[in-house]
Amino acid sequence: MTQSLLEIAGVTVSAAHYIDGERVASGDTFENFSPIDGRSLGFIHEAGGEEVDAAVAAAAHAFPAWAALGAGGRKPYLDRFAAEIGKRTDAFCVLESNDAGVLLSRMRHGVVPRAMQNLQWFAEHALTLQDRTLDTVQAHHRVRHDPAGVVAVITPWNSPLMLSTWKIGPALAAGNTVVLKAPEWAPLTSSLLADCAQAAGLPRGVFNLLQGSGANTGAKLVGDPRLARVSFTGSVATAKRIAQAAGANLVPCSLELGGKSPFIVLADADIDSAAATGALMYRNAGQVCLAGTRFLVHQAIAQRFIEAMRGYVEALNIGDPREEGTEVGPIIHARQLERVEGFVERALARGATALWGGQAHPYGKLYFAPTMLTNLRQSDEIVQQEVFGPVLTLQTFSTDDEAVELANGTDYGLGGVCYGAAEHATSVAERVRTGFIWINSFGIRDLAAPFGGIKRSGIGREGGDWSFEFFCDVKDIILPKQPFRASFSHR
Ligand code: NAD
Repeated sequence: MTQSLLEIAGVTVSAAHYIDGERVASGDTFENFSPIDGRSLGFIHEAGGEEVDAAVAAAAHAFPAWAALGAGGRKPYLDRFAAEIGKRTDAFCVLESNDAGVLLSRMRHGVVPRAMQNLQWFAEHALTLQDRTLDTVQAHHRVRHDPAGVVAVITPWNSPLMLSTWKIGPALAAGNTVVLKAPEWAPLTSSLLADCAQAAGLPRGVFNLLQGSGANTGAKLVGDPRLARVSFTGSVATAKRIAQAAGANLVPCSLELGGKSPFIVLADADIDSAAATGALMYRNAGQVCLAGTRFLVHQAIAQRFIEAMRGYVEALNIGDPREEGTEVGPIIHARQLERVEGFVERALARGATALWGGQAHPYGKLYFAPTMLTNLRQSDEIVQQEVFGPVLTLQTFSTDDEAVELANGTDYGLGGVCYGAAEHATSVAERVRTGFIWINSFGIRDLAAPFGGIKRSGIGREGGDWSFEFFCDVKDIILPKQPFRASFSHR
């Protein structure tokens, strides 16, 4: 057993994998950097075929006993798992702010409590899952939701703790065992999560963690034929690779992907409220899948809206995510910053204009100024492609039909925001083709509600009963009403 401990701002965390209840080291490592100032946070182990094999084998071995516990038997483990996260709140805050640039205040007040809920809520909800009975002409049917087996969970770097527990919670509560592949640009809080699983006394092999890159570790994991499910959050390009690899073994995938969601402001909207919410789209430096990034504003109010939003954007506190009061932090990685800069440069070169921003921000190397581009055509790359940075676009419209056409005019379909008089906004929202849409609000998410996108934004829904639909196998137990006598005339 090798611990390979790292120390980050007073917090100790393992750089190794967690397989079958133990820390496991690899010969290969990769270096991990902080987006705040580019300093090295140490070397993380990279799982190869042997470790992937061991993790899946451990999860497969642990599955029958974990499944047999039933929802009631599993709940105390998940409650303890959540409690162990709570005990390490400070450490999670320090690690994810240093590692991923997520605001420390948001970690403390939003992400860590939510991570705990992700485990507790699904453990509780699993108790309410009832077998469904169907009475048909010939038989009584009892339809059960059985745990599926080994679940691979693959998450991105923009909010690793939140996004991983959102999948691990229901997967474990439903009776599956899990192999989590952490994001290589922000691997640390996943490692701390493994400490929590161990401290909570989860049986060996129920929760396993692999560190490593997508192309190597991730690809090996999703190609393993022993998996029962793959639950993935990340980009469209990666999702296609994962769906191909898992599809070769007919392993079902849930894919939560990128977005280019519309933020519609109708002529009868509360302009100030819409503008204040608009500035929220720069949260996490715009690295938020569900942000409304395409502003579609009625031309009659466009100028007033722009000025109101400009006021909120100018007041944003851009700085070190570890400091109280900071509202916008860094971009995760130099490669992501290059990507963001490339999108903006190409858009400006094609005739777009920046209402604000448009260039790097002087606070630090990986900071980009909150940007709003206008003077665009619907076919422009900046309107069509997800930037995943603090870059928004603004187009105007003059009728509801035009707003809906622009809103639906990309390959994405994750979410949306619609500001306007409630009935009017609802009628427009009904015509927008996305997995969800907020009316006069943003970011309200309840664990009971379905979450996911349509078109290129994903396949499947997670949340509430939808998570259990995905993480379970449906089985129909059929009891004939009349004594059954075998005969070739039977249908
Ligand atoms: P990414 O697709 O590059 O990587 C996501 C994860 O997949 C990482 O852990 C990576 O290592 C792994 N991976 C990469 N190639 C793989 C392969 N061949 N096989 C298996 N795993 C592989 O995405 P990213 O850059 O980390 O994250 C940003 C993307 O995530 C954006 O598109 C964003 O919109 C999306 N996202 C979506 C949601 C949502 O819920 N819909 C939430 C957050 C982020």
